[in-house]
Amino acid sequence: MVRQFELVEKVKRYDPNADEDALNRAYVFAMKAHGSQTRASGDPYFSHPVDVAGILATYRLDSASIITALLHDTVEDTGATLEEIEKYFGKEVARLVDGVTKLSRIELQSDHSRQAENFRKLVLAMSEDIRVLLVKLADRLHNMRTLCHIDNADRRRKIALETLEIFAPLAERIGMDAMKTELEDLAFAEINPEARDSIQARLEYLRQQGGDVSARIITKLNETFTEAGVTAEVSGREKMPYSIWRKMQRKNVGFEQLADIMAFRVVVDTIENCYRALGVIHAAYPMIHDRFKDYISTPKPNGYRSIHTAVIGPERQRIEIQVRTRDMHAIAELGVASHWQYKHGVGLNEGRQYKWLRELLEILEHAAEPEEFLEHTKLEMFHDQVFCFTPKGDLINLPVGATPVDFAYAVHSEIGDTCVGCRINGRMMPLRSKLLNGDQVDIIISKAQTPSPTWERFAVTGKARARIRRFIRGRERDQYLELGKAIIERAFKEAESEYSTKAVKEVVKTFAVETVDDLFVKVGSGHVTGREVIEAIFPGMKPKPAQDKVVPITKARKPAARGVAGIPIKGLIPGMAVHFAGCCHPLPGDRIVGIVTTGKGVTIHTIDCDSLQAFAEAPERWLDVAWDVDGRAGGDGNHTGRIHLTCINAPGSLGNLSMVIGRNNGNISNLKITNRSQDFFDLMLDIEVRDVKHLSEIIAALRAIPVINSVDRARG
Ligand code: MN
Repeated sequence: MVRQFELVEKVKRYDPNADEDALNRAYVFAMKAHGSQTRASGDPYFSHPVDVAGILATYRLDSASIITALLHDTVEDTGATLEEIEKYFGKEVARLVDGVTKLSRIELQSDHSRQAENFRKLVLAMSEDIRVLLVKLADRLHNMRTLCHIDNADRRRKIALETLEIFAPLAERIGMDAMKTELEDLAFAEINPEARDSIQARLEYLRQQGGDVSARIITKLNETFTEAGVTAEVSGREKMPYSIWRKMQRKNVGFEQLADIMAFRVVVDTIENCYRALGVIHAAYPMIHDRFKDYISTPKPNGYRSIHTAVIGPERQRIEIQVRTRDMHAIAELGVASHWQYKHGVGLNEGRQYKWLRELLEILEHAAEPEEFLEHTKLEMFHDQVFCFTPKGDLINLPVGATPVDFAYAVHSEIGDTCVGCRINGRMMPLRSKLLNGDQVDIIISKAQTPSPTWERFAVTGKARARIRRFIRGRERDQYLELGKAIIERAFKEAESEYSTKAVKEVVKTFAVETVDDLFVKVGSGHVTGREVIEAIFPGMKPKPAQDKVVPITKARKPAARGVAGIPIKGLIPGMAVHFAGCCHPLPGDRIVGIVTTGKGVTIHTIDCDSLQAFAEAPERWLDVAWDVDGRAGGDGNHTGRIHLTCINAPGSLGNLSMVIGRNNGNISNLKITNRSQDFFDLMLDIEVRDVKHLSEIIAALRAIPVINSVDRARG
């Protein structure tokens, strides 16, 4: 374990301005918080955060990162709170510790090795500040170094697998090659010790066989460069057992067939000299085909740049050579952490990196201090996505702004279709809530539920929207069909004939449809009128005088003329085949009339609505409709009535009238002040009521209060 003064000295060596006092306080705070806790090894628990801080100090990270490392387990594992940390160490450190704590919680939540790629994205998305990820990686590295102390073999294996699948690739992604290599090697030793041992034994054997072949090759290469006048540092690079093993797996070959067990690195000062050095190598030794890769002109997505080639080397054996500049070498080894050593510009090729990496390096070039650099280093990757968990711990990947409805459809179409509610992190939440990274979402379903048209307003994923729309279309067709059938049946009655499906079937071709149902849909949606169908069935029939009665609309028109009942609108869901007019807000109990609009079905108005005037010249569009027996329509039985009222402009007026409405079980769903003078308010109110009788009771009650001047129902 690193001691307090050693850690502080180490930090001060590369960052003389580091906050020594804060480092010391963090050390003491963590020591006190962890108290007598111990690790599996028997060491005091406190040794872990101190060693994690030590690892980060070797990467020369800023003091906020080192302090975060010291405190990283205090919130999760001790009585310490974020508030305390903010109080003693400031907002920045508190935010970083919070980030690391959240990552640790997600780690505990899920068996994510099945969805490694998604989990890696989640970790990146949650590490909004790259320092959170760096502390997390150092934490993992130390846990891997001390893995052998854990007794439970299954747990060891799980941690090692997770390291291999999640954390080593993350280290690679941000370019930290040394970290990646060590994580992989430690994990490999746990997961497949036999393979690792045998590869290591073969490497050792080769080393002894060749005497000091590697040293001889380095000398030879150095001579070759000197003769050509190129200044280069040549070093041997031992391949790690895990990368050899992976190559054997990938290429399905044995150990002997791997060409590049001997690998060398040539480091020069400029890009120009990289290509010169390459020319020297290829001129001196035969190149092996298909092994040449130029990652300088085309860098890897993580920013890695080097030239790779393989040749038959000075000792007549196949060797792999990497050529790079000093800057490229630093980035390859240390990734984003490299800028503290090489503060000057690292001009990467434009347009060839991931956006976040380019931005990161841009900031790197312009930031004066390491602190400033880190402060602004937000991981831009995956900011357009959120990652949530099912109760079983499966990860569901959704676009930002997604809701539980999107989540439900992403899990399974059927779950989407039947969802009625949800719990987010254990709490009941509305289906329109926006999901956040790491949310655990438990969808509540009911077999009786069907997709609601309102979902379309907040669902964002294509899958959910398509499914909801398709359902609504299907439902719409059913409703048009039902309505059209009722209209045709009624037209038969008006023509004083018996309804006959056979007769209708004979005329379907006239209306360019295939089936009777299709014709019903056409009538229900207003493309064809009931009369037109009757006229096709009984050619030459005279129009009934009854139709003329419709026109003088100022007088209440008698529905159900000559004993023919109005078409009941029960069971038709408002918003599909049937709409309630926004002008007069018809309520159950009102005398109503339907106006057919081509392609939209029927709009219901009260029979005295002013807007009916507009349809006076189009009697064919009028449709007799009636509330069903219970006076209810649609599913929920709740209707909106609209009233206009004038009340005195005085304190308490509004309170007074809303209290009266509430006491009469009316629910105000909308309220608008339409005019406001010194003396009076004019208000428009939408009130949810059962029926017209209910609204009349409310109006009567309102009239009884003194502050109210006048109350009237909206009349279109
Ligand atoms: Mn830890």
